[in-house]
Amino acid sequence: MSGLQKQMSASDSKTLMSRKSFCGSNSNMNQLFRPEFGSTQSLANHERLWHLMQNYLPSDKKSIQEQIVNHVEFSLARTRFDFHQVHCYQAVSHSIRDRLIESFNDTQLYFHEQDCKRVYYLSIEFLIGRCLQNAVGNLGLQDAYTEAVQELGYKLEDLYDEEVDPALGNGGLGRLAACFLDSLATLNYPAFGYGIRYSYGIFKQLIQNGQQVEAPDYWLEKGNPWEIERLDVQYPVKFYGRVVKRHENGQEKSLWEAGETIVARAYDTPIPGYMTFNTISLRLWRSVPANEFDFTSFNEGDYFKSLEAREKAEYITSVLYPNDSSYAGKELRLKQEYLLVSATLQDIIRRFKKVRRDWSLLPEKVAIQLNDTHPSLAILELLRILIDIEGMTHANAWEIISKTFGYTNHTVLPEALEKWGVDLLGSLLPRHLEIIYYVNMIFLSKVSAKFPGDAHKLSALSLIEEGPVKKIRMANLSIIGSHMVNGVARIHSDLLKTDLFKDHYEMRPKKFINITNGVAPRRWLRSCNQQLAQLYDEWLGTDEWVLNMDMLKTLEDKCEDQLALIQFMKVKRNNKLRLIKWVRQYCNVEVNADTLFDIQVKRIHEYKRQFMNILYIIYRYLLLKDTPTEGRKKFAPRTVFFGGKAAPGYLNAKRIIKLINAVAEVVNHDLDTNHYLKVVFLPNYNVSSAEIIIPASDISQHISTAGTEASGTSNMKFVMNGGIILGTWDGANIEIAEEVGLDNIFIFGARVEEVGKLIDNMKNSDPYQYIQKPLWNVIQAIRSGIFGHDHHGLLDSITNRNDFYLVGHDFYHYAQAQIKIDQLYQDKIQWAKKAFYNSIRSGKFSSDRTIHEYAEKIWNIKPIVVPQPTANKQDRFKIQK
Ligand SMILES: *Cc1c(COP(=O)(O)O)cnc(C)c1O
Repeated sequence: MSGLQKQMSASDSKTLMSRKSFCGSNSNMNQLFRPEFGSTQSLANHERLWHLMQNYLPSDKKSIQEQIVNHVEFSLARTRFDFHQVHCYQAVSHSIRDRLIESFNDTQLYFHEQDCKRVYYLSIEFLIGRCLQNAVGNLGLQDAYTEAVQELGYKLEDLYDEEVDPALGNGGLGRLAACFLDSLATLNYPAFGYGIRYSYGIFKQLIQNGQQVEAPDYWLEKGNPWEIERLDVQYPVKFYGRVVKRHENGQEKSLWEAGETIVARAYDTPIPGYMTFNTISLRLWRSVPANEFDFTSFNEGDYFKSLEAREKAEYITSVLYPNDSSYAGKELRLKQEYLLVSATLQDIIRRFKKVRRDWSLLPEKVAIQLNDTHPSLAILELLRILIDIEGMTHANAWEIISKTFGYTNHTVLPEALEKWGVDLLGSLLPRHLEIIYYVNMIFLSKVSAKFPGDAHKLSALSLIEEGPVKKIRMANLSIIGSHMVNGVARIHSDLLKTDLFKDHYEMRPKKFINITNGVAPRRWLRSCNQQLAQLYDEWLGTDEWVLNMDMLKTLEDKCEDQLALIQFMKVKRNNKLRLIKWVRQYCNVEVNADTLFDIQVKRIHEYKRQFMNILYIIYRYLLLKDTPTEGRKKFAPRTVFFGGKAAPGYLNAKRIIKLINAVAEVVNHDLDTNHYLKVVFLPNYNVSSAEIIIPASDISQHISTAGTEASGTSNMKFVMNGGIILGTWDGANIEIAEEVGLDNIFIFGARVEEVGKLIDNMKNSDPYQYIQKPLWNVIQAIRSGIFGHDHHGLLDSITNRNDFYLVGHDFYHYAQAQIKIDQLYQDKIQWAKKAFYNSIRSGKFSSDRTIHEYAEKIWNIKPIVVPQPTANKQDRFKIQK
């Protein structure tokens, strides 16, 4: 620990901030701090040790520099002859991590001392994005670090860019989990995130010859300064095997004799709250071989075979499944899900049992939230533990279960609903399958009691889907095992009640609630749009709006203030220039900042209708070509940006990317029109590129077929940054329209009430009827080959009475909305006003509001504010609460 000693001695002479008053004020805390060393060490030694550790790292410039240099020399073992910017990033990150460890340790001790109820957020994905800027910002150390690093010859902003973007998620679902952690920490809720530490995150998207090519994302290549490997937090996870029955005291007992054991090891990423000392943890599991070595094969000389089995264990958490809103049904995925659940529950139970108490108190101390059905095996696993290991009756165990879990549904798309074949599940988790059958039997008897003779209800609510292959419906399991089920935007939650989970709703109506999604304003406004944040600081005379986004509403008057609007649009223009630079670097395309930036970035999916967007661009291009120069004034010059990954096995999504790039190739090189229209495909859309793309939008598109996008969250990010939405009456667009006003958003297309009928009509009518004339002209142009010759498959996906996402129907209304956008863009002041209204009225979509709702309506937890360490420590925090 020479580094630690050096820090101590280097800072001994300075005014140090002491931990003593924080801990000393509280006798319990002293107990917790008692070290567990061998009896040979005297109390005096302990005192000496703890005395040396009592001080927090000082945050003056000189000390920060010393801390950084210390890491350069001793953590990275660098010499001055072999030192690059990336090493500076690493050293700076380590120095920030040190501070996070201080606040993290204090936070955990305080939660333990208070014995508060904790919430556990289980998610198979956490798309957290880069950490350094977020941590520096949340700790309030931006100015101190900027200066400290500058004097060492680096720019903090450049260091931010050295960080690899940990991409352990596909899209909205994983990003939501990450925003929730930021809000949970910021609002001082005693919370833990639990997920999987994939060695390979979502693939890197390359565009070659206009097509998506996937490259592996080995994000750990250069190490990860943000994680803390916990070699002492490891749990066995079992698979396969059989169930043996024993009789004890006249009762049958079941015991799972597993066939294979691996180990899950914990890696913690500290998550700092904004302007608070509280720092919570994202605990990610990695699979490693169990310590047992197969000595039989060893003795037989098959040393390599034995090692091979160990390698296989590592494989479980090696790669994130790259499907968004659809699932693969592969055994390895089920193993990942069970590993997450099994290790997490062992961890939760260990923490619960630190205090001796009755199991019936579990729901008073623990809330578990299931982010979609992926972690829903947790319901079965907890039942198994309570019944088989703790010896509880099924009824008592069920009582506890059904007060502990909450389930968030994220989609109504049938292809996304998880269903595991009975054989697959039964072979991997034989005892869990038995429990499913038992739970189902009890549940269906309750259904029969409530709806006697209703065969439909029985088959709709059963955990088991009958058919050639029997399947377990994980959504049904999640619903009956949870005390609350929520959708993620009002329209979505309504659809759950009237459509997808109608029968469940009739069975238990009070279970079903709505909690509209939100995004973290720290990352999605304050960090990614620092200039706009600064304007708001100035105008409000405080930065407290970051914690209370509704304060922005008090800026309504600025709409009548031309100068303010000009300042606002100046910021927008600067953000456009920043994106232009990015595009020059990664796409080799020149873009004009005076064009309207029209952006659609999200996973590529038929339901999200990037296809309709590119079809309209072709339409607009043909129209431009047909219009003599004098008449072209009515077209506001536009740059249309696309970004997003297609699942590697999703053919039509990949075809859409190909068409976009083919159109870009033609349109961008047409000297006759390219002042009016350019198309750019932004490769490898991820959190860090989103932070550059989103603040630059004039228009962003959220144009899913009504009833298909559960909420959407990028719509919220765009609005916060003063972008206007072109969207359908779907997901959170509806609530955004309510907040910002219908005058400040462009809504078009079929409403959800019409969709069913329109699809029926489409199926039964001629393609020349359900696809209107202007769109046929576009289809003909594509068929003629001006964009190459391989787009037939894609066109066939709507022209054969199979236009299930209603591109043909909505296209006309979409084109009409586009005209209105062109008209408004001519009037710069009117445009600025609308854009401004969007940003200052976006308060509802802060994930802080969302998390307060979860805490109140589902988790029943209260904030626990860790005391500030000492009085003189407070210069780290601008806002006092
Ligand atoms: C917010 C976000 C998403 C979700 O976008 P939607 O438009 O809501 O589907 C996906 N990917 C990234 C990188 C994001 O930041």
